[in-house]
Amino acid sequence: MNINLYRRRRLRSTQAILTRVQIRDLGRKIGYTSFRQSVEFLMDPLNYFKLSKIKMADIHQYLLEQGITQEKCPSTHIRQGDHSRLLISILFPGYPIIKASEHHYRDLRENRSLQAKVTDLAYDQLPTTDKFERLEELFKSSVDWHQRQQDEYTIDIPLKKLNRSIVVEGHASSKLNVRLFLYLWSSEHMAWKPQAFSLSVDGKECITEDQRKLNDYGFSHIDITDASDSILKANRRSTSSISFVFKFEKRPTTHHISVCAVVEKSPEELCSQLYLQTASLYIGQAMESSSKNIPAAQSVQKKVVELLNPLNQNDRLELDKTEKLLLSCAESFLTAWNNPEPEDDDNVEIFTGGEYVSVSDPIMLTRIEHPARCIFCTHNTTFDAKVFFKFQVTSMNWRCPICLVKIRGIQDLYIDYQTKVALQKYPDEERFLLEKDEVYLPIPALDPLPIVNDIPKKRDPVEIISIHDDEEQAAPKRQKTNIDEL
Ligand SMILES: [Zn+2]
Repeated sequence: MNINLYRRRRLRSTQAILTRVQIRDLGRKIGYTSFRQSVEFLMDPLNYFKLSKIKMADIHQYLLEQGITQEKCPSTHIRQGDHSRLLISILFPGYPIIKASEHHYRDLRENRSLQAKVTDLAYDQLPTTDKFERLEELFKSSVDWHQRQQDEYTIDIPLKKLNRSIVVEGHASSKLNVRLFLYLWSSEHMAWKPQAFSLSVDGKECITEDQRKLNDYGFSHIDITDASDSILKANRRSTSSISFVFKFEKRPTTHHISVCAVVEKSPEELCSQLYLQTASLYIGQAMESSSKNIPAAQSVQKKVVELLNPLNQNDRLELDKTEKLLLSCAESFLTAWNNPEPEDDDNVEIFTGGEYVSVSDPIMLTRIEHPARCIFCTHNTTFDAKVFFKFQVTSMNWRCPICLVKIRGIQDLYIDYQTKVALQKYPDEERFLLEKDEVYLPIPALDPLPIVNDIPKKRDPVEIISIHDDEEQAAPKRQKTNIDEL
């Protein structure tokens, strides 16, 4: 698919799966008489955090009546934010909900709203990446360690505060991997960078090599989830406390201590998120291009619902299911995507001839399974999303392994549908010829003329491969597909 098209589409605003009639209806339910105001409100996921529980229940009921969801309307006991998240996941499939909720908390803080609890203040300053999605702050306490010089500093935390299940109660069958991150704060707004310290819990030293590495990468958290069995078993009825004993080389500057719950995602889950996000690009485009034609918009929405509804919240983190979803969304909505509006025409690419594209991952040198690219990349080659997440995810600075362009987060990435199709269609090919119409063709090895004669004899200029020292032994495998041998 045309790289520029992807980029422009990606940078566009998020599209809810609602028709104009539904936008008008829902706008009225939340008190807007003008269509423009309704669009502005309903098309911004952030706004769903501003709705009262009653209005959210109203909206949910309407979505059920319209057949847009089969997800039951939660009882009024659900926490407000949980219902907001649920509505966003129904209306904006593939949208990273955490982005909206973090934005929401930041807004509250900046506007000094009464809703902003003190505990939210420092919370947004924490460095996280897509791998660690923050949920809630579970515990916070002030300490006077900065005023005392002693060998050890102890904080007792009630175990019921470390109850991890509380944060996923809204999602009963959730398989999310919830971790507990402990932070030390030098002030309300500054997390202390862990260095030269030790921490023992239940008399056992609990700082691992991996933990130190994460802190060296720039993260400020200390993952305490596995520090003790009693933390793993903590629940709302736990009555005892647990002691955390710190030793520092220098006197600490600690004023506050907090623990927050975080969802840690595996490379597979991140990869699934990327498939869903890319699928939602096709969905958004189809909804957008049909929006002025009511029957067309209704039939697009019907198709979208048909494709999405079989996937519950857990399914949306499963690779095989989201992979299939992307393929069906692309098959169903590719026509809409391929008909760019006139505004897109001023940036037509000049075609300069076929290009050879390798489907070996630049990190592992194995055949790519989940072909991904960043919206800022200008190359046609892709890298494997799962491998990328596995190797880059602990770093706070993501870069494209091919062109090294900076990647701000998963929102900058997409799965390349055409490469994915080619990979499935020709399971043994390691390189393809990319034709003008964005079609990937296998290189005809047994018919050397005329294509092979056009290839530079020594090295394909398109292919940029980085070989890690410890992976050099994998290099000979690539020789098999060297053009010189064709
Ligand atoms: Zn790149």
